[in-house]
Amino acid sequence: MAFDQDRNPHHRPVKGPPPAETRLGQAQYYLLAADVYRWQRLNWVMSTSMLKTLAAKHSSTVTKMARKHRVKTETPHGLRRCFEARIEREGRSPLVARFGGIPLKRQEWAAINDRSPSREPHPRRELITRLLHGKCEVCSSADDVYVHQVARLTDLAKPGPQPEWIRIMAKRRRKTLVVCRTCYDTILSDLPHRSKQ
Ligand SMILES: [Zn+2]
Repeated sequence: MAFDQDRNPHHRPVKGPPPAETRLGQAQYYLLAADVYRWQRLNWVMSTSMLKTLAAKHSSTVTKMARKHRVKTETPHGLRRCFEARIEREGRSPLVARFGGIPLKRQEWAAINDRSPSREPHPRRELITRLLHGKCEVCSSADDVYVHQVARLTDLAKPGPQPEWIRIMAKRRRKTLVVCRTCYDTILSDLPHRSKQ
């Protein structure tokens, strides 16, 4: 809950009153249960915890915080008490963060809105993808490929004419290069020569 907007201007409460089903959160799972009223107890614990946190942050008391944020909200079962932080905005809908105001009454037909968070599929690491192509990145030969690696990209930035493999690595800004046997030998023969520069 983002109730602490007084002190931290960057800490914005959620924008506008969200649709009822997204507001329900965890309580929604239990709306089907005959004993969903038991959540009153959890609701009390959580709201007290929130008020204590607010009181500590504002060097105030739980009673004062409760008085400041206590409002009533309209629900399908009539008005319900809840806590609310509201920022009025000119010409726009107010920013509202709300705690509670969910009627803990059994709803036999409650739809559980259980959306699994969409996750980016873990991208295959780039080098592995390049290795799987099985092609030399200098001459496109498919002879058994090796990986040449440099410690730092700055190692490649030396003055003077550059062998092709260095130009390719520097252009791609990659510390690895997949090469065939022939190109690998070329690199090895270039290396001692270059380190003397
Ligand atoms: Zn090659």
